[in-house]
Amino acid sequence: MGESKKVRMPICTSCNRIIPPGTNATKFPCPNCGQIIIWRCEKCRQFGRQYKCPNCGFTGP
Ligand SMILES: [Zn+2]
Ligand SMILES: [Zn+2]
Repeated sequence: MGESKKVRMPICTSCNRIIPPGTNATKFPCPNCGQIIIWRCEKCRQFGRQYKCPNCGFTGP
């Protein structure tokens, strides 16, 4: 039997929920430090919830 590959599910930076594949989520590098990939789920995009970069503390809409 082969090794099982662990799939890391992305977590929304705003609401900390797992983002299931195939949803209308978005990801982009932190506009301030560029070190962290910010994930935003469909709902948080829709409602324009704030996110906070865990690396530099930058917050954005
Ligand atoms: Zn979210
Ligand atoms: Zn940052």
